[in-house]
Amino acid sequence: MATLHRTGDRVLFFDRAMLASGWARDVRLTIRSGIIAAIETGAAPRPDDDRHGCALPGMANLHSHAFQRGMAGLAERRGPSDDSFWTWREVMYRFVGRMTPEDLHAIAALAYLEMLEGGFTRVGEFHYLHHDIGGAAFGDPAEMSSAIVAAAQESGIALTLLPVLYSHSGFGAQPPQAAQLRFVMDSDRYARLIEAADKVAVALPDAVVGIAPHSLRAVSAEQLDALAELGAGRPVHIHIAEQVKEVADCVAWSGQRPVEWLLDHAAVDKRWCLVHATHMTPDETERLAKSGAVAGLCPITEANLGDGLFPAEAFVAAGGRFGVGSDSNVLIDASEELRLLEYGQRLLHRGRNMLAGGEGRSTGADIYAAAVDGGAAALGAAGGLRIGAAADIVGLDLGHPSLAGKADDALLDAYIFAAGRSAIDDVWRRGERLVSGGRHRDRAGIVRRYIAALGRLAA
Ligand SMILES: [Zn+2]
Repeated sequence: MATLHRTGDRVLFFDRAMLASGWARDVRLTIRSGIIAAIETGAAPRPDDDRHGCALPGMANLHSHAFQRGMAGLAERRGPSDDSFWTWREVMYRFVGRMTPEDLHAIAALAYLEMLEGGFTRVGEFHYLHHDIGGAAFGDPAEMSSAIVAAAQESGIALTLLPVLYSHSGFGAQPPQAAQLRFVMDSDRYARLIEAADKVAVALPDAVVGIAPHSLRAVSAEQLDALAELGAGRPVHIHIAEQVKEVADCVAWSGQRPVEWLLDHAAVDKRWCLVHATHMTPDETERLAKSGAVAGLCPITEANLGDGLFPAEAFVAAGGRFGVGSDSNVLIDASEELRLLEYGQRLLHRGRNMLAGGEGRSTGADIYAAAVDGGAAALGAAGGLRIGAAADIVGLDLGHPSLAGKADDALLDAYIFAAGRSAIDDVWRRGERLVSGGRHRDRAGIVRRYIAALGRLAA
């Protein structure tokens, strides 16, 4: 459908595009104020068109703790005994103890740059590092949130800011530990934080602010109830059932497993994102799928931490929605999250093409489309290449050897299972090209400031 071209419009022409309506060839996108204003398919290129290979809708990264990018690779040495998530968490607490707002800005900017280079165009930042070194509250409750917003602005990534409510160290409202003092606040201060976060987030063109009760161990049942009003109309994210010990502690506290307890005690619906949900019974899996909530899967981090495997095959078969997140940011790559998600199921079930939607369907295309849809829904944004959506586009290089001779769905199979992020050529946000030839336009400066911050933190 053609519309009148106006001054200031930007036009991108792609040989192929994965539109929300399906694959199309010779696609001209007209972009007005960052939004897709018109889509022409089967179009003839014009001499002054900005021409590219294959357009994919940008992927949402629905779960990130940006500061943890700074400790990537620091927790890979074997400990004295039972090396698990809980020893990793001790390393994280030591690292985080010294981080200033400036350090957070520098580290988050690098993480967001790598997300853009790795095929993500929006990040859900599950942000719990709220207070100053030592745990004293800043005068401005959004001091650290502002560093996240500044990093998003510098990198150009779209932001769904998820300020976290963290009040307790364990089920049944146990008092926080000393290492958690930079995270903890009560519900009243949290309401002020959300109000302040709303104000700083307006600096970004399409930011969303959601709410995030950290987990059932860090927030009491009463607090969770009280959040319903504050969270009305916003995305709601919570960590859940990531660790076997967490499941056992929840059963000891309530007689129920975490997902079972949450589904019985909170109005979980399509606004919710249950992050990890690794350990579920078949009944919990079915109930979560039927709730309409998005499962926030972080396969690279879950593998790195030895969490376990999400029952993806059963969840998808029951109609469940999912998206992917880079969580600890130990490695940031949208294609690798999807590849590992599928490979985990293959290893578990000793089968192939476990998450494809049926006979003859492409695994790569089905999991990519599902994660675009689920990720966008979880982050309160519109996903997919459609009129009225932000022009957030990942461009694949059709000259990449792994993509040779492929078309449409087969391009996604080749991207996810063969080429990985090396096939990403350009990435646009709101029609602006932030990544060219696989490199972010501000890479040199962002990397320099990151290295300086790491030098200070390691000194
Ligand atoms: Zn997390």
